[in-house]
Amino acid sequence: ACPTGSLAEKEHINEVLEAISDPNKHVIAQTAPSIQVTIGEPFGMPVGSFVAGKLVAALKRIGFDKVFATDVTADLTIMEESEELLHRLFHEPDKLPLLSSCCPGWVKYAEHFFPEFLPNLSSTKSPHEMCGALSKTWYAQKYGIDPDKIVNVAIMPCTAKKYEVARPEMESDGYRNVDYVLTTRELTRMIRETGLDFPNLPEEEYDEPFDQYSGAGMIFGATGGLFEAVLRTVHEKITGDKMEVPDYTDEHVQSGLKYGRVTIGDKTLNIAIAHGTGNAKRALDRMKRGEWKIHFMEVMACPGGCVGGGGQPILGSRDHKFISLSYRHNRADALFNVEKGKKIRRSHENPRVRQIYEEFLGHPASEKANKYLHTSYIPRGRHPYLVDEKHYKGYNEKD
Ligand code: SF4
Repeated sequence: ACPTGSLAEKEHINEVLEAISDPNKHVIAQTAPSIQVTIGEPFGMPVGSFVAGKLVAALKRIGFDKVFATDVTADLTIMEESEELLHRLFHEPDKLPLLSSCCPGWVKYAEHFFPEFLPNLSSTKSPHEMCGALSKTWYAQKYGIDPDKIVNVAIMPCTAKKYEVARPEMESDGYRNVDYVLTTRELTRMIRETGLDFPNLPEEEYDEPFDQYSGAGMIFGATGGLFEAVLRTVHEKITGDKMEVPDYTDEHVQSGLKYGRVTIGDKTLNIAIAHGTGNAKRALDRMKRGEWKIHFMEVMACPGGCVGGGGQPILGSRDHKFISLSYRHNRADALFNVEKGKKIRRSHENPRVRQIYEEFLGHPASEKANKYLHTSYIPRGRHPYLVDEKHYKGYNEKD
C-alpha cells in the first residue's frame, strides 16, 4: 500500500451502490472462501475468526438481492481441473506439467515472463468467473430472470481480480461474467458506512443454488488448498478410494516453495506448490533446466495464498486491534479447521455441483463446460526494462 495514501486500488463502491438502488437490477454478491476468515478483523474480531454467516447477513442488509458462496464454483474449478490433470496424465503426457490458473496475479505474470508455459496452464476459469458465467446462464434460466438485469459483484481478496474481470474473454453469451469486484477492504468501508454492528450480526445462510460447498472448495483460500482439493478428487477417480490426507513426501522445502511426490494407486506424481511469484520463477527455472520434472503445480501470487491477498485487511492499520506476525497462518488455519468438520470434503460429492452438471453442463470437460467454464491466455511480452536479466536481482540463484 502507498505509504502516503495517495495511491489506492480503484474503488467500485459507488457503482455497486447505484446498482443496488436500481429496482430493475438483480444484484448478486458472491464471496471468496478467504473473505470468510478475514472480514471480521477490521471490526475487532480476532485474526482467524470464521464469520461466513455474519458476512452473508451484512451483505443482505446492505441490499444485495442474493448472496452466493464462490466456494461452490471453487468446487467446479476443482472438477474441471481434475479432469484436465487426469486427461494429461493418461492421454497427453507431453502436455504436462499442469499448472494451476485460478490466481489472476500468477496468470498475468506467466503471460509476461513465461509465455512458453502458457500451454501448461489449466484452461479452467477462476471460481468467481465461473460463478459469474453460471449466474447469467443456468441461474437466470432456472429462476426466470433476464440476464440483462443481473449484476454480479465478487467480494474478493485482491485487486488482480479487478483486472481479471475486465479481460475481453471473460464473458458468456455476450454478458460480462462478473460486473464488479470489491476487495475485502472496500466491503469493510461499505459495512462501516452502513453503520452495521458486524460482530453482533446474526448468522445467515447463503442463497440457493450457490449455497452448499465442500471442504475442498473452502481450502482454495490458502496456499496448498487447491493442490489438496484436486488430489482428493483425482485420487478417488484413479483408485476408487477416498483420500483423507495426501500421501506426500517432501523432496525440497523452502519458504514459499515445496517440491515432492505423492502416490496415487500405482502412479507417482511429482508436485510443487509455490506462493509468491519469485518462488514460481524459481520452480519454472528449475523445470526449464531439467532439474525438476513436475506433473502438477499450484501457484498463488500472494504469500500464503488468498488469505494474504493484496485486498485483505492490512494488519497494523487503524483497522486492527489484534496484530500477529503469523496472521496469514491464523487465517489459513481457520479455513482448514472449519473444513475438517464439514460432512462433505470432496468437490465431486457436493450436491450442488452434481445438480449443475445434471441440469446444465452435462459432465466435466463437456462442450458446454468448455464454453462457460474455460478460457485461454495471451503471451504479452516483457516490459523492456525487465528484458535485462540483471534486473532480476535475487531471483536468479540456482538454489
Ligand atoms: Fe488474488 Fe493473491 Fe489470491 Fe492470486 S493469491 S487470487 S493475486 S489474492
